[in-house]
Amino acid sequence: MNFKKAIDGVSSVFFPKRCRYCGRVIEPRYDLCENCKNNLPVISDPVCGLCGHSKEDCVCKKIKSHYSSVYAPFYYEDMIKTAVGRMKFRENPALCSDFAEDMYKVFLQKYADIDFDIICYVPFSPDKMKKRAFNQSELLAKQLSEKTGIALCGAVRCLFDIKSQHSVDGIHRKGNVFGAYGIENENEVKGKTVLLVDDVKTTGATLNECAKMLRIYGAEKVYALTFAVAKA
Ligand SMILES: [Zn+2]
Ligand SMILES: [Zn+2]
Repeated sequence: MNFKKAIDGVSSVFFPKRCRYCGRVIEPRYDLCENCKNNLPVISDPVCGLCGHSKEDCVCKKIKSHYSSVYAPFYYEDMIKTAVGRMKFRENPALCSDFAEDMYKVFLQKYADIDFDIICYVPFSPDKMKKRAFNQSELLAKQLSEKTGIALCGAVRCLFDIKSQHSVDGIHRKGNVFGAYGIENENEVKGKTVLLVDDVKTTGATLNECAKMLRIYGAEKVYALTFAVAKA
């Protein structure tokens, strides 16, 4: 056994390598467990840019939003649900870096030709900001800013405490976030082409509300990118 292998062996006992999505302990030479390698819920081309689903799963009936399109690498199911939970609740910002890499691949496929000015993210409510150490959407946006060289912009603000969208029925989600977001400094968004980042798109109500405010304050166009899209 050479020295490096010996070190790897020792460190894997104390810091076992985990599958980046489901968190299962794996051999140090792999990045994913066998199950994730074979069964990730990838959103495969061709994709409907209005709802972010594969065209074969599209149910959006071409209903337009305030954002021009939304894309994501994965559906929000199985190990991707686990992955988002690990990123959110176990305070593991390093995971955001891996997941931003998956989003960056989609960015290159779908948005490489667009001349973006800024990257914005869906902000936490004041209440959530007090409770949680970090906003995973902001971390994803920050990583994407570093990868793309597009400036990060925290102009979108959540003005008051809202119920978590997960705790609200689908039909009430639009009402739950209506009027909840504002723009801190309109000069930061006026005339800008914006990439809007969130961790998960569920009904799209939150993304739509943020995009609406960006457009009201003069953003030229808003395109959305998330880590996962919940199947409608
Ligand atoms: Zn796995
Ligand atoms: Zn669709």
